[in-house]
Amino acid sequence: MKPIDLRSDTVTKPTPAMRRAMAEAEVGDDIYGEDPTARRLEELVAERLGLEAALFVPSGTQANQIAMGLHCRLGDEVLADAGSHIFHYESGALSGLWGVQPAPLAGERGVFSPEQVKAAVRTDFIGPRSRLVSLENTHNRGGGKVWPLERFREVVEASRAAGLAVHLDGARLFNAAVATGTPAAAWSSLTDSTAVCFSKGLGAPAGSAILGSRELIAEARRLRKRLGGAMRQVGILAAGALYALEHHVERLAEDHEHARRLAAGLAELPGVTVDPGQVETNMVVAEFPGPQADTVAKLAAQGVLAGATGSSPRAVRLVTHLDISAGDIDEVLARIRRGLAG
Ligand SMILES: *Cc1c(COP(=O)(O)O)cnc(C)c1O
Repeated sequence: MKPIDLRSDTVTKPTPAMRRAMAEAEVGDDIYGEDPTARRLEELVAERLGLEAALFVPSGTQANQIAMGLHCRLGDEVLADAGSHIFHYESGALSGLWGVQPAPLAGERGVFSPEQVKAAVRTDFIGPRSRLVSLENTHNRGGGKVWPLERFREVVEASRAAGLAVHLDGARLFNAAVATGTPAAAWSSLTDSTAVCFSKGLGAPAGSAILGSRELIAEARRLRKRLGGAMRQVGILAAGALYALEHHVERLAEDHEHARRLAAGLAELPGVTVDPGQVETNMVVAEFPGPQADTVAKLAAQGVLAGATGSSPRAVRLVTHLDISAGDIDEVLARIRRGLAG
């Protein structure tokens, strides 16, 4: 039985057409600024996101951490939802690389309020300096929650009024755009820096971008080199990302449809709790009877790969992506049904 892999949208393999684009990419030494494919990707993504400039980097973690390094100084504090990727899944880079500490906010599925920002900003010299607010759209630990644009705008305004810079971790920003019919730039153009991933739902094998003003991105180029992220004939990878940006954005709607179908099917299974109304993009978070690790093992035995997630001790996360068809969703539901019966 071939396992159906719903652990993450990062598990996709490049399509034959993407591989062709990569094989045929025009390349040059990117550290000399001579890789035409990387340049084209950077120009296109900057245009799509309504920001002046972009820089191609190896990973979303590096994109976020370059932003942290650009905005913050030793001893500063970054305000973000307590479940943020930058706090949980970047190997402690915030303190490890930059000497910056987290100011976790209690958001709802990753979304917080302008009042929460105002209340968390330090006004005395005894505490750390509040420097940056970081918003994550869609929110990973929030189960793919979209930041409502109006709320996002209010938080940006409150942050600016308090003297903070604004970063957007938009690893899945295109999912938010496709789910709402709002251009991605509506969110990103409000920020000082935005990070996007090509290797999540867009299906490229690797790569992310950090975006901002021309001045900021010139400095980002220095930090990328410092972190060892500057590469040579990187057009091979940039071509995969460029292909993804040109061909795999609109199709994210299919992943969202598959996630809704999966949630609706799971909601009918005895002992499984899931609110299909909370499925906004390509993630389904469901509570199963028994601890996460047991459920994950039980599902794997049935040929369904899922992941544990932070939201509750019984919650399991299933993520739809480019390599999952509608037929796979029906097969997943049949396998889970069997697993729960067994
Ligand atoms: C995946 C992800 C990243 C970046 O992860 P990498 O694996 O380093 O590319 C950043 N933020 C969020 C919200 C993510 O889901």
